[in-house]
Amino acid sequence: MIVVGGGPTGLMLACELRLHDVHVVVLEKLTEPTRQSRGQGLHTRSVEMMDQRGLLDRFLAVSEKFQVGGLFGGIVKPWPDGLDTAHPYGVATPQPVTERLLEERAVELGAEIRRGCEVVGLSQDEDGVDVELGNGGAPASGGVAGAGGTHLRSRYLVGCDGGRSTVRKLLGVGFPGEPATVETLLGEMEVTEDPATIAAVVEEVRRTQLRFGVAPGEDGVCRVVVPADGVAEDRSSAPTLEEFKKQLRAFAGTDFGVHSPRWLSRFGDATRQAERYRVGRVLLAGDAAHIHPPTGGQGLNLGVQDAFNLGWKLAAEVAGWAPEGLLDSYHAERHPVGARVLDNTRAQITLLGADPGAAALRELFAKLMDFEEVNRYVTGMITAVGVRYDFGEGHDLLGRRMRDVRLERGRLYELMREGRGLLLDRTGLLSVAGWADRVDHVVDAGEELDVPAVLLRPDGHVAWVGEDQQDLLDRLPRWFGAATG
Ligand SMILES: Cc1cc2nc3c(=O)[nH]c(=O)nc-3n(C[C@H](O)[C@H](O)[C@H](O)COP(=O)(O)OP(=O)(O)OC[C@H]3O[C@@H](n4cnc5c(N)ncnc54)[C@H](O)[C@@H]3O)c2cc1C
Repeated sequence: MIVVGGGPTGLMLACELRLHDVHVVVLEKLTEPTRQSRGQGLHTRSVEMMDQRGLLDRFLAVSEKFQVGGLFGGIVKPWPDGLDTAHPYGVATPQPVTERLLEERAVELGAEIRRGCEVVGLSQDEDGVDVELGNGGAPASGGVAGAGGTHLRSRYLVGCDGGRSTVRKLLGVGFPGEPATVETLLGEMEVTEDPATIAAVVEEVRRTQLRFGVAPGEDGVCRVVVPADGVAEDRSSAPTLEEFKKQLRAFAGTDFGVHSPRWLSRFGDATRQAERYRVGRVLLAGDAAHIHPPTGGQGLNLGVQDAFNLGWKLAAEVAGWAPEGLLDSYHAERHPVGARVLDNTRAQITLLGADPGAAALRELFAKLMDFEEVNRYVTGMITAVGVRYDFGEGHDLLGRRMRDVRLERGRLYELMREGRGLLLDRTGLLSVAGWADRVDHVVDAGEELDVPAVLLRPDGHVAWVGEDQQDLLDRLPRWFGAATG
């Protein structure tokens, strides 16, 4: 399997594929990991996923938990009561640390990460996908030298190569939506101004401009956010320190003596989604499939959740037991989820507007979020615990991911480390004979499980609830293919 892009999405996918012993090569064009910290942490659903795969302790060892409710359009509220999770918090992990932890795990599991390998060409046939690496591509063992670089072939390929995805462009997949209308400069640099003065100025500017911030970090380095002067023609070019100084002076009347930048970047508010997440043997995930403004801090989370949905399905294809339509269910499930995130960021951007109408709307919305149920709904949306896939009519849990529950022996999420299907059975009367190579069967009368039995997919979503063996037998093939033996 070839994964193009070693960002959070590609690395999460590599981890998931390796759980199922799929040979994985991640092609990453950067020769070194980036220090640019865009994503600031994991929301609840991603926290749950890390726990399901035994990775949460690694995050908690280097990150603080946070409990901020709402997180919508700059409006924050207390954490709501009764959110359907045993992990009612987020984890504040800078993106480079998330990438390091995921890369370490992927390598531990046996994924091969090839840095300095830029994919520049792609073609596919009935049996596989060929990629062409640019001239900068490191020579790859198993690759065949060809004109213009190195070629690799694989049965499937996933483009996790970010918002300007080469894979998406080479596939010719449409990326409709709205272009950027505003741009924001973001960077890390040192300042000469004292922290108290900075804090006072920032507070004043943020009364009218929420895209502004100078936040002290480690070693005297500040994270600076300031609106750019228009939208750059070449959005891939890094801004200069001079640009930062000019914009800081324009908004704050001072540039705080910024100097010695660690890195400088720009981001826009473009909102777009790939029309298709799958073309034959090539799939798209993460920012390659959707981009939106960072309000609510959802992009990285959405990407790793795409990977969590896709990994086991691709592995099932490779292993040969995937039922008809399983791989297509990736688009069917994740495209609507992505579309909803795009819509919620559109709504947030409207709330963040500088006009009096937006300010009035923001005030009204802030009051509405004081209602516990509204806060719970919005928090469930931003943290993705509210996601429900359409598995048809049935029990209320059907299609939702299941919260962690205490069992007589241990916890539910501890049973999901291997990324296999799971029948959690209070009755002790059910059987997964015929699927035991793909589905674990745990009999446990833990009282927190308030249904007779539940069948979970490897991504933790509820595939079946009930107590009738025949009903279970009817449902197993839909997600786990034909019985064997
Ligand atoms: C200012 C800002 C703040 C943000 N804050 C948050 C937040 O708090 N929470 C959150 O969830 N999200 C946040 N995001 C969004 C988050 O950063 C992205 O959604 C996330 O990085 C997407 O991960 P990805 O792996 O899909 O893509 P990327 O992180 O873009 O990774 C793609 C990788 O592919 C590589 N690549 C590209 N082209 C090729 C090629 N042709 N060949 C080989 N490799 C290639 C790139 O070098 C890169 O390493 C923020 C974004 C910004 C701009």
